[in-house]
Amino acid sequence: MDDRLREIYDSVIRRNPGEPEFQQAVESLFTSLAVVVKRHPEYTENALIDRMCEPERQIIFRVPWVDDTGKVHVNRGYRVQYSSVLGPYKGGLRFHPSVNVGIIKFLGFEQIFKNALTGLPIGGAKGGADFDPKGRSANEMMRFCQSFMTELQRHIGEHTDVPAGDIGVGQREIGFLFGQYMRLRNAHESGVITGKGTAWGGSLVRKEATGFGVAYFVANMLAEDNDSLDGKRVTVSGSGNVAIYAIQKVQEQGGTVVACSDSSGFVVDEKGIELDLLKDVKERRRGRIHLYADERDSARFISGGSIWDVPCDVALPCATQNELDESAAKSLIRGGVRIVAEGANMPVTPKGVAAFRDADVRFGPGKAANAGGVATSALEMQQNASRDSWHFDYTDRRLEQIMSDIFGRCRDTAAEYGTPHDYVLGANIAGFTKVADSMCALGVV
Ligand code: GLU
Repeated sequence: MDDRLREIYDSVIRRNPGEPEFQQAVESLFTSLAVVVKRHPEYTENALIDRMCEPERQIIFRVPWVDDTGKVHVNRGYRVQYSSVLGPYKGGLRFHPSVNVGIIKFLGFEQIFKNALTGLPIGGAKGGADFDPKGRSANEMMRFCQSFMTELQRHIGEHTDVPAGDIGVGQREIGFLFGQYMRLRNAHESGVITGKGTAWGGSLVRKEATGFGVAYFVANMLAEDNDSLDGKRVTVSGSGNVAIYAIQKVQEQGGTVVACSDSSGFVVDEKGIELDLLKDVKERRRGRIHLYADERDSARFISGGSIWDVPCDVALPCATQNELDESAAKSLIRGGVRIVAEGANMPVTPKGVAAFRDADVRFGPGKAANAGGVATSALEMQQNASRDSWHFDYTDRRLEQIMSDIFGRCRDTAAEYGTPHDYVLGANIAGFTKVADSMCALGVV
């Protein structure tokens, strides 16, 4: 970092104390910006970067709700509307006990550049609550979602801010949220939220999109060396929406996924994950991952230890932030990994990323590799605006093309700055310059 950039970085960090994940996301971007501001010192003028790091609006609110026994609880809800330069605020809602303002700000900050990389007109935002869905009944989930939306509804709209799901918020919760929004507004404003069911305004492929997109991105990375996923041994952490559909698309392209996980441990299945069983355990029964191993002879469940000790050619961290650290990265490198792509947001720590770079492991950062979810949300918004619904294959082809365009932007930008295959640098710079140039054009905003 040069002196001017360091000064801006220090002031951003001073203004946001006690938010390590947010600081980590800012540092990762600034590390890539050094080469950009050397070529374009104008980006350090007019407090452009300082403004970019400050959310346009942050909303924090009380979410009171009643459990099935009649006990009253209170949680804290968040919506950080980070940047509306490229389009309406857009980003998911996360319900997880770890949620705090720093986590939502890191996710919202990443979302700005991720959304810019898609090439679609969407700004950046994130929201959620420090609510733990684990062990809650469907009725409790509904009451929580209704209370959450009772406050959130005054801040969102199809041209203002369009939430979607993230960890802990799937199609069922989107339904509860949208249902409450309709009652409060007396309007079927379907473009106000994405990830809806296909019968009530949702897009085909949205459910699969983040996971499919990760696999398409990896296919593009491999194609650089005239290679493909065919015959590759793959490990995928997580077993939620992103992981399940990444596994599906990897398998469709000829790869074998030998391990996946949840917060209780991981399963290794040398025959390859049996997708129908995994979907049954996770999507239908909402069960823990050991149930998969209980019902499959070729699989074993491991509750201690690390999934990253399983040797593989391709590793796809699809669980949560900072799940893959330096020692896990070294273990993967020893196991012969050649490609790592982030299905989750910031799952690899900075030291983990550095270890991969030093070992020449190709690395696809989340803001590029997992952008297929939000990109397909933008396609859902297009369908809602035109009161249309597209076929599965057409939507899937659009997604595949968007992922290959994103990959192209990362590759070409990395090459332009003299570091071919550094997709972290490519993604950061391509996302940043699009937002920065647009902010310059719009005056001091
Ligand atoms: N939560 C997803 C993400 O991290 C999707 C957001 C959206 O569809 O708006 O990108």
